[in-house]
Amino acid sequence: MRRSNKLGSVIGMGIVIGVIGVILFVVFSPSFERDVPSVTVEHNGYWNLKSPLKVRINDQSGIGGYRVALEANGESISLAQAQNAVALPELLLSVEAPKKVAAFKPESVKLIVEAHDTSSWNFFRGNTARVELSLIVDTKAPQVSTVAHSMYVHKGGSGMVVFAAEDPNLDSLYIEIEGGKRFVAQPFYKEGYFISLVAWPLTSDGFSARLIATDKAGNLHKSTVPFRVSDRTYQLSKLKLSDAFLEGKIAELAELFEITHESDKRLDQFRLINERVREKNEKLIHELTSVVSSERIDTFEITPFYPLKNGQKVASFGDHRLYFYNEEQVSESYHLGLDLASVQMGAIMSQNAGTVVFSDFNGIYGTMPVIDHGLGLYTLYGHCSSAAVQKGDKIHPGDKIANTGMSGYAMGDHLHFGVLVQGIEVRPEEWMDAKWIKLNITDTISDAKKIIDRK
Ligand SMILES: [Zn+2]
Repeated sequence: MRRSNKLGSVIGMGIVIGVIGVILFVVFSPSFERDVPSVTVEHNGYWNLKSPLKVRINDQSGIGGYRVALEANGESISLAQAQNAVALPELLLSVEAPKKVAAFKPESVKLIVEAHDTSSWNFFRGNTARVELSLIVDTKAPQVSTVAHSMYVHKGGSGMVVFAAEDPNLDSLYIEIEGGKRFVAQPFYKEGYFISLVAWPLTSDGFSARLIATDKAGNLHKSTVPFRVSDRTYQLSKLKLSDAFLEGKIAELAELFEITHESDKRLDQFRLINERVREKNEKLIHELTSVVSSERIDTFEITPFYPLKNGQKVASFGDHRLYFYNEEQVSESYHLGLDLASVQMGAIMSQNAGTVVFSDFNGIYGTMPVIDHGLGLYTLYGHCSSAAVQKGDKIHPGDKIANTGMSGYAMGDHLHFGVLVQGIEVRPEEWMDAKWIKLNITDTISDAKKIIDRK
């Protein structure tokens, strides 16, 4: 009896150890892991039923199977599935809605993703994940149309466009020109209308402007604003650098700009000032003048700029300057403003209201007030001997801004008058010309308002 008792307890112990072993194996073995697969769907809550939806399934032990279905109009439609599949740790699915779903014209659809892994857990059924997602359906592209626009855009010049844009889920709205620059439109006059100034950058060979709108569901509108374009030739000048200039002005400027300490050669210092310092100064100008308000405006009235009384033109906008030293071209630059000179320390006035966004020293531009006139239009006054305004000041028509001078990279007392449209330098003469302003700005706005009021 004792012997068989002993044998019995040994067998019992063996069974207990065996069961514990199996339990431990199931608990700790990777083939019995209990982590459910992770399922993610790339979305923002909207779907146009056209762009494929990206579904990502991950599982460390390998994906056993999956099913992606769509519920629309009370129907369940399978989009993708696989059983006993893959065994890969990651799956990227791109699912599309069958055409008939759009025909239901659903306001929303439900996306259901189920996935199980290859784990032996759950009596070999594996771990299952289920994700349900409601998506608002929007299959309609934004409705965008041009209402009025200035007839011509000249190379280096400005233009204006008013357009209507409508979409319940509008996401982005802008005007893109050749070369990729985007102009932001400002809400205008009545709900659903927008206005923007555009510019043909001096250094771009061609010009075209497209209205682009996207909605949250990924629908896209693109249309061309039918501007007529007019090429314009700008001056190419060859300038010889003299030793007197290098030892005079450049030696003086070299003291001012740390960058020139890289070299003690005057010609290198000239290059550093004309290229690196200029680039840095223009970057600041572009940043300052790229800001556009998102507030609705009712009108945009501009009178011709005439910043310097009896100012004579001493250099043109758009000059492409090539610099030579001993017959060899050593540098180049574009002159991005209009230089005007009258008397020394002449008074600079603004004919238009605005807000001062900068009034400080800016490298080769010297003391340089910049005024925001609204709608992305800015004016800039370089080489001043002194500024009469401070950042944040409100400017009224007829206010004095500064006095001319030769601060920065200037050879004589003059004003460098710059006009910018959303960070692009444009030909100041257009904005100094009453006829151009009437034809392109005033008339475009009044035409647009007439058309909008009729609707
Ligand atoms: Zn200038």
